[in-house]
Amino acid sequence: MIDSKAFRRYAHEFADWMADYLETVEALPVKPNVRPGDIFSKIPDQPPMQGESMSAIFGDFKQIILPGMTHWQSPNYFAYFTANSSYPSVLAEMLTATMGAQCMVWETSPAAAELEEKVMHWLRTMIGLPDDFEGVIQDSASSATLAALLSAREKASSFRINEAGFQDNRTFRIYCSTEAHSSIEKGVKIAGFGRKNLVKVGTDAALALDPGKLKEAIERDLSGGLTPLCVVVALGTTGTSAIDPLKPIAAICKEYGLWLHVDAAYAGTALVLPEYRKMIKGIEEANSFVFNPHKWMFTNFDCSAYFVKEPETLIHTFEILPEYLKTGTRGEVNDYRDWGVQLGRRFRALKLWFVIRDYGLEGIRTKVRNHIAWANELAEEIRKENSFTLFEPQNLGLVCFRYTPSGFTDKEKLNDLNNRLMKSVNDSGRIYLSHTKVDGWIILRMVVGQTNVTREHVMGAWQLLREKAEQLIDR
Ligand SMILES: *Cc1c(COP(=O)(O)O)cnc(C)c1O
Repeated sequence: MIDSKAFRRYAHEFADWMADYLETVEALPVKPNVRPGDIFSKIPDQPPMQGESMSAIFGDFKQIILPGMTHWQSPNYFAYFTANSSYPSVLAEMLTATMGAQCMVWETSPAAAELEEKVMHWLRTMIGLPDDFEGVIQDSASSATLAALLSAREKASSFRINEAGFQDNRTFRIYCSTEAHSSIEKGVKIAGFGRKNLVKVGTDAALALDPGKLKEAIERDLSGGLTPLCVVVALGTTGTSAIDPLKPIAAICKEYGLWLHVDAAYAGTALVLPEYRKMIKGIEEANSFVFNPHKWMFTNFDCSAYFVKEPETLIHTFEILPEYLKTGTRGEVNDYRDWGVQLGRRFRALKLWFVIRDYGLEGIRTKVRNHIAWANELAEEIRKENSFTLFEPQNLGLVCFRYTPSGFTDKEKLNDLNNRLMKSVNDSGRIYLSHTKVDGWIILRMVVGQTNVTREHVMGAWQLLREKAEQLIDR
């Protein structure tokens, strides 16, 4: 076991390794070339009886683990949505890990609770949310959405379902678009509503929820004796970053008295730019809102910002008070264990504070603006290229497109071609992108948003895609 002296030496060695890694990560294959079981088979079946040297452990990290990692911090990472990190975020995580504090209640780390309250106020200002929203950091948007669904359930039942379980004969209905994230369905299952009571409402041509269809679905449910409860709006769907029209949906929620939850997991970061605040017109009517600084705001996973209009409802939904958790400061301070599922909580506010202070609001804005500008530029290139088809509307930093060379019209053949194109660029290790499906078409997705991505990386990826695409046809 290493002692304090060895810890100091390794901490310096690791810090050098970390800096080297981040400086050179772009040269590594973004997606590792491994098969299922490759790593598993290299790890001994039994744990060591005697402690091993840190140099042996670190050596195995470099030899066994690193070649099996996907390098999310590579500027050639364009898949899914980014999970950004940054220097200030990593530095803060080092301090967090060192203090190893468990921040369940104010008393177990007063500074953590008070910093969390303050940075959530900062974030609220940064993205233009009204002042009457209060924030709490959750591990993920999935947890935040679950918290929203449970809060909606408890509010509607005057907290009786928490107390006695589902007892009356009401069947609650939850609404989101067909393009909304799978975490909503997961939350609906966990909250006990039943998956069948998630109503997936149709979208318009832009794949945004159609308010007219929402209203029809609510009316249909009401006349069928069902109980509409909650609508989840997606600002930036995961497939194509479609933006649901918040304002008309908020009006419908108001009319029918429904809980309105806004899932802006990815797109929320764009709200730091005043020119994108139009996405949240109508937000005053929302009950809850979530976005992930761990996606696009340079704060390493995990860090999800959940904002609610009535913290009392959230707290009342989650609070429990066994004797061993009673404190003398209850009511005066925020005990965040009552603001979500977890009791024990990491000190996540520290890294957010470091990131916001290191970049400054203008620094964050500049990066996000650049990402969107390069995505627009890429979209323009794709629009000009005859053998590719851009998916429109193109929103924020996400660019969706298909390879559609002349002579191919059959859906299956084109889908196969696009799957092969994706595999070929990803297998090259030079870039990594992912796909979605729209109307049965395979669509390739490229997210421009990695912390260190530049215009050159984006244009380089486009060049590689065209080269690989041509090779597919030659064969
Ligand atoms: C990524 C994403 C989620 C899930 O985020 P987690 O933090 O991983 O739970 C939810 N909704 C949308 C729209 C997303 O893009």
